[in-house]
Amino acid sequence: MHEAILELNIPFREPMVIYKNEFRGSGDGPLISLVSGMHGDEISGMYLLSRLAAFLDRVERGLEPFYTLEGTVRLIPVINVPGVNFATRNWPFDGTDINRMFPGYDLGETTQRIADGVLRATVDSHYAFDVHGSNEQFFEIPHLRMFSPTEEDLRLAPYLRCRYLLRRELTPLYKTQLSYHWKESGISPYILMLGVARRIDDDLVETLYQGLIDFMLAAGVLLGPPPAPPLQPPSFGRKHTHLVLSRAAGIFRPTAAAGAMLRKGEMLGQIVNVLSGQVEEEVRAPASGLLASIRSYPLVYEKELLARLFTAEENPSGTADVWYQEQ
Ligand SMILES: [Zn+2]
Repeated sequence: MHEAILELNIPFREPMVIYKNEFRGSGDGPLISLVSGMHGDEISGMYLLSRLAAFLDRVERGLEPFYTLEGTVRLIPVINVPGVNFATRNWPFDGTDINRMFPGYDLGETTQRIADGVLRATVDSHYAFDVHGSNEQFFEIPHLRMFSPTEEDLRLAPYLRCRYLLRRELTPLYKTQLSYHWKESGISPYILMLGVARRIDDDLVETLYQGLIDFMLAAGVLLGPPPAPPLQPPSFGRKHTHLVLSRAAGIFRPTAAAGAMLRKGEMLGQIVNVLSGQVEEEVRAPASGLLASIRSYPLVYEKELLARLFTAEENPSGTADVWYQEQ
């Protein structure tokens, strides 16, 4: 069922509408909400939600004979409507990041009203997913981010088949983000980081699509064949993080790929002097662990983030609370 969750008058012509597509089951199963398109250039999440919409439509029409919808699935694929239409990450009118406007304000400026409308439209959920992607300057492998997950959250998370899980305490640092307010409202929030901005990675979307169907089966939203055995992802907290910053400025050429397990001292890449072509810095892994993300935009200043690496052991100096490279 397509329905407007928010209508805003805009300077010219028809109002701007944010839509939800909701599938209501026959039983009293839980309500799961999924949102994407908060950032207008993160396309993979929108495509993932469109795949789910097509699947749930088939379930509703009896074309998926093994599945029955027991709960409710609410999809809000596009929050930043003009951003999506014109391929800009932020709100095009004034560059506002909508994921810095929560909980929003219904009498406030446009992006505050959008934030308020999205929170109101999802606050009755049992589970809620906010789907994002990394920006073009930084390649991240797909992963899940959670605030102080409960045992039940951790039971369900492995069905999603993400490469790793990043946990954080619910601190005021995140107070302007949608998932913070979901957690504060008693909802289990799952932040999915999926792919790179402006691109669709079909394999990734397919994995997450199957993962979300299995998640819904395990959570009792959907009835059907038993889900695939869950795949326990490694879980990292704040103190497992190693940030690799550039010491030199120049052109960064990575030699390691995100997703690799690296040994301490292994080469991550080089920074080359633009004028002389000489190597200014050999960038090496500060510890042994999972290379979760690496910079893809080549030009760097000093002290810029080049890579993020997670280790099984706690890093005594790893107190930097970097949640998102892009957020
Ligand atoms: Zn995003």
